[in-house]
Amino acid sequence: MLQFATGATGKVATAKGAVAKGATAKGATAKVAAAKGATAKVAAAKGAAAKGAAAMAVTAMVVALLTTISCNRQEQLPRIAIAGIAIECSTFSPAQTTEDDFSISKGAEVFTRYDFLAEDSLLRQKAHWLPAMYARATPGGIVTRETYESLVARTLEELKKNLPYDALYFDIHGAMSVTGLDDPEGDLILRIKEVIGNKALVSTCMDLHGNVSLRLAENTDLITCYRMAPHEDAMESKRRAVSNLLERLETGKGRPEYKAWVKVPILLPGEKTSTRVEPARSLYAEVAPAAAQQGVIDAAIWIGYAWADEPRNHAVVMVTGDDKQTVESTARKLAQNFWDARHRFEFIAPTASLDECLEKALQSDKKPFMISDMGDNPTAGGAGDVTWTLARLLERKEFRSPRGPKLIYASIPGPKMVEKALAAGLGAQVEAYVGAMVDDRYQPPVLLGGTVEFIRESDTNTEVVIKTGSLHVIVTQKRKPYHYESDFENLGFQPREADIIMIKVGYLPESVYNMRGDWMMALTRGGVDQNLSELPYRRIQRPLFPLDKDMPEPPLDVVFVNSPESKPG
Ligand SMILES: [Zn+2]
Repeated sequence: MLQFATGATGKVATAKGAVAKGATAKGATAKVAAAKGATAKVAAAKGAAAKGAAAMAVTAMVVALLTTISCNRQEQLPRIAIAGIAIECSTFSPAQTTEDDFSISKGAEVFTRYDFLAEDSLLRQKAHWLPAMYARATPGGIVTRETYESLVARTLEELKKNLPYDALYFDIHGAMSVTGLDDPEGDLILRIKEVIGNKALVSTCMDLHGNVSLRLAENTDLITCYRMAPHEDAMESKRRAVSNLLERLETGKGRPEYKAWVKVPILLPGEKTSTRVEPARSLYAEVAPAAAQQGVIDAAIWIGYAWADEPRNHAVVMVTGDDKQTVESTARKLAQNFWDARHRFEFIAPTASLDECLEKALQSDKKPFMISDMGDNPTAGGAGDVTWTLARLLERKEFRSPRGPKLIYASIPGPKMVEKALAAGLGAQVEAYVGAMVDDRYQPPVLLGGTVEFIRESDTNTEVVIKTGSLHVIVTQKRKPYHYESDFENLGFQPREADIIMIKVGYLPESVYNMRGDWMMALTRGGVDQNLSELPYRRIQRPLFPLDKDMPEPPLDVVFVNSPESKPG
């Protein structure tokens, strides 16, 4: 059993400064002994005929005993910190992410991010939780160095407030890029460890589109990632990371004996690796049974992130556990399965040029015919303001008449248009330039003119709908993903009755997927261009499938990664 001498007692020790932890712990033990003595006295009192005073003494002593036991239980709870920065960044987009783009939770606010850590939850009772800071942003362009340094400094400051810790729950996405810095998540954990030390057990949960460098693998003890894309199991995965951490602390097993890491030289976009379809469905179906084996703590497969250019950008398999042979053979098998399936990964919906998608949609009587405007998907790292697709739509004759097929376009940022629409009001005619404020590489800002059909005011991001012909263009103050049916209903649409809906997205998230009549993905321009062979990679490790289609069989070596327990901390 691990000793959590750093519990509530630890705090006292730190506060008093001069009082050694050991002394405090001894003090607690002495209290228990005293209470035990008191119990013996109670027995004697009983023997000597019960009197009122004796009964009162019994009550007082029992209360004292229970209080002592309860205090000790509190003191024995492990002290666990929570920290992390989560973002996915395309470095093939001119967009930049700054501190304003992050939503930051500190201290107790962090609990609201995790339903399994609600106040009355079982897991909440099992530890003395000390959340430091969690910063999260919608995917976007590269994080500026200044922003990253500020987020790290703020995180470390919060962590310093509650030292020492028995463990850390490290919650990251894994595909952050920072100007002038490789492997930011590996850097972040090292800098956190400089503050919390190397003894604290670290459990990490990631997105399966994150990257796992050897440095990150080395500096985390338990590590896992989602097993579903779309990420319907995100919360379940985070819960697993926390449960595994508590289990290792409670049983006193601590660090896993073995952490196996395998590089799989494959780099694929999420749009080809959804677990809703083969071969990713079967590949990921093997993960839970693999993790359930005797001697294995967890198993995970990372697809990796395709729109950044570092040596760490490739797929990885990791397995952690105490049985060397099972850990090794499981990691090898999952990696081999992935490699063997490499030729079968295809786009998860029919994929074609924008014109071909529109032709198909115009001929179809299925409503709504969904088209993904994939190249500028803001939730994969696109700027979200590329006007190339909108410009093509405005050129097409089919949508010029109000009686033409109803097409909803979601969406284009255009703060000037929003301002004009607000001033002019519903039903007014307006005209303004929209889009291409961040990414104008494919098309300059587009002059959009039409009727103000809907206004949804908000403190953070007002949306307006501008109608021109049969096009209904959603214009926002800031870029915004449209992932829910309610996003459309909130703007007065009955989305299931529209003929065509275009969204800046890759694979359809569940809510909009469920309302589709049909669906195609358009190979449009933007920061997350799906034609990877066209991207100007220079630093990724080659050969890499499918960029090097005829590459030789890779070794798929299992690397046993050590935890830096012995390093000074
Ligand atoms: Zn993801």
